[in-house]
Amino acid sequence: MTTYTPPEFNYCPICGGTLASIEINGKIYQACSDRKNCKWIYWGHTPMTAAVIVQDRSDNNKILLVKRGNEPFKGEWALPAGFVEYGELPIDAASRELGEEVGISATMLRMVGQYLETSHPKTFSALTVFHATEFSGTASPSDDASEVAYYKWDSLPEMAFSGQVRAINDFFKE
Ligand SMILES: [Zn+2]
Repeated sequence: MTTYTPPEFNYCPICGGTLASIEINGKIYQACSDRKNCKWIYWGHTPMTAAVIVQDRSDNNKILLVKRGNEPFKGEWALPAGFVEYGELPIDAASRELGEEVGISATMLRMVGQYLETSHPKTFSALTVFHATEFSGTASPSDDASEVAYYKWDSLPEMAFSGQVRAINDFFKE
């Protein structure tokens, strides 16, 4: 498995002081050199994303995809998805993105699985994929989706994110 390290800071983001390396349980972390007052330690964090599988009401083998209107991967296809915001749960991010990108309101989401998503050029993420088991509304593109369409899961168009493709395959093969 690839090891990821968080981007490095030059100064303490809390007090502006210098940083030092400290060892905790055998691992090295960046920390504020003011260990008396500030005590800030840079634990790093894993960026999180969430995506939703919505099946076509008239054909269970088809899923809703959005054509990306923005970079990266503009013009390629993806599940309705996005970053989990600070303080948000992945399931709430999934529901929010579904509403923002395609105007669908999910009333029931079930987790399909979690995946390491490494396709994004700027950051990896821990991707949680959900299945919308109950929802209302008809998909129409908005926000950063330029187009929406239903595709058969085993003949997908050019997909932006490999973690999503793994999730789709797992979902239909189970
Ligand atoms: Zn500090």
